[in-house]
Amino acid sequence: MKLPKYSIGIGDRFGRQGKAQLAALVEAKARGVSVAPVWNKSHREHTTIGSEPGDVRAEADAAVRACKWTDPYFVDADHVAMGNVDLFVASSDFFTLDVADFTGEAASQAEITAFVEKYRRYVGALAVPGIEGTLEVSEDQIGAIAARFLLAVKEAAKIYRHVVTAKGAENFITEISMDETDQPQTPVEMFFILAAISDNGISAQTIAPKFSGRFNKGVDYEGDAGQFAREFEQDVAVIRLAIQEFHLPENLKLSVHSGSDKFSIYGSMRESLLKFDAGLHLKTAGTTWLEEVAGLALAGGGGLAIAKEIYAKALERLDELTAPYATVIDIDTAALPSLELVDGWDGRAFAAALKHDASCEAYNVHFRQMLHVAYKVAAEMGDGYLQALSENEAVIARNVTSNIYDRHIVPIFMG
Ligand SMILES: [Zn+2]
Repeated sequence: MKLPKYSIGIGDRFGRQGKAQLAALVEAKARGVSVAPVWNKSHREHTTIGSEPGDVRAEADAAVRACKWTDPYFVDADHVAMGNVDLFVASSDFFTLDVADFTGEAASQAEITAFVEKYRRYVGALAVPGIEGTLEVSEDQIGAIAARFLLAVKEAAKIYRHVVTAKGAENFITEISMDETDQPQTPVEMFFILAAISDNGISAQTIAPKFSGRFNKGVDYEGDAGQFAREFEQDVAVIRLAIQEFHLPENLKLSVHSGSDKFSIYGSMRESLLKFDAGLHLKTAGTTWLEEVAGLALAGGGGLAIAKEIYAKALERLDELTAPYATVIDIDTAALPSLELVDGWDGRAFAAALKHDASCEAYNVHFRQMLHVAYKVAAEMGDGYLQALSENEAVIARNVTSNIYDRHIVPIFMG
C-alpha cells in the first residue's frame, strides 16, 4: 500500500462530517490536485467521545461511496501504542506509531557504541543536496541521538511487526511520530533517526518530527517563522538524502502534526514542497468540530442555544477539560468572554469570536481554544447534540468543506 504524494489527515470527533470533509478534496481534484484523505482518530478521542475505531472506517467508507471518490483513502490509528494497537488493527490501514513516551529513556551502551561505529562515516560536514552549506555532524552528536532515540525506534519496530503479523506488510501505511516529545528534533537528528528506522526494518512512509515553535490546537503557529522555514526545508532535503543512504521507501515524506490553522507558515511549507518536488502529509486537529459549533451558532435558534450551552459548561469545567491538552493550548482565562457577554451574542457574534480569522476584530483566540477542548461536553449531550447536527446539516457542511478547502488545501497544496 502506497501513500500518495499529497495527503491530509482529517479528524472528525463526532464522525458526522466525513462527506463534507471529502467534498473539499473532490473540489481540489476537480481543479487538478490530488490529495488523499486520511481519517485519523486517536485512542484518547475515542475514549472521550465513546466511539470505536470501526466507526471511523464506517464513516470513511460511507463518505467515499456518497462522493463517488475513486482515489485512495485511509483510516489512521493516530498515535497508537502497543497497549491499544489491537483495537485498531481490523479497521485501520494507516498506523501512526507514537514513540514519544520512550524518548526519555536511554538505549544500552553497547547499542549506542554499535550505532556510532556504523554511522561514523557521516562525521564532519554533511552535504545535503538542495540546501546551502553543510550540516555539522560530530561523533558525540551521533552518540547522543542514539542514546535518546534508539530505544524509541526499537519500540516502534515492535508495534510495526505486530501490525505486519496481523495485517501483512503490504496492507497498511506506517508513520513514525515523535512530535509529542519535549524538545524539537533538528534535521541532523532526523537523519540519524531515519537511519535507526531503517536498521529496525520499519517501512515508514511518513515521519512526524517535532518542529521548533508552538503548534497549539486550532490556532496559528507561534515562534520564529523564519527558523521554522529553514528547519522544514532542511528536513525535506534530509529525507530525500536518507531515502538513498538508508534504502527507505522512495515516497517517504514529512508529516506535520499541525494542530490545524498554521496559516503563517503554510506559505514557506508550500515553497519547500515545490522546490524539492516533495510530498507532504498534513495532519490537522479536530477543528471540524469547531466548524460544527460555528455552524450551529450561525443557524440560530436551538443551534445557537446549544453552542452557548457548550461554552457555559466548558467554563465550569475549565481545569478538567484543559488538563489533557496542557502542552498544546495557551488559554488566558482573563481573556475569555464572560457568560453574560456570550449570552447576549447572536449567532454571527458567536461565530465571529470562534472562527479563526485574524483580520476580524471579534476573533478571540482564547475562546476558540477553550471550545476546541470542550468536545467532551458535547459528547455528554449525546443525542441532543447529534440531533442538532442533523437538523443544521447544510450550514455546518458548508463551514466544514470551506474550512478544509480554502484554508488548508489551497494554501499548502495548490498555492
Ligand atoms: Zn501528533
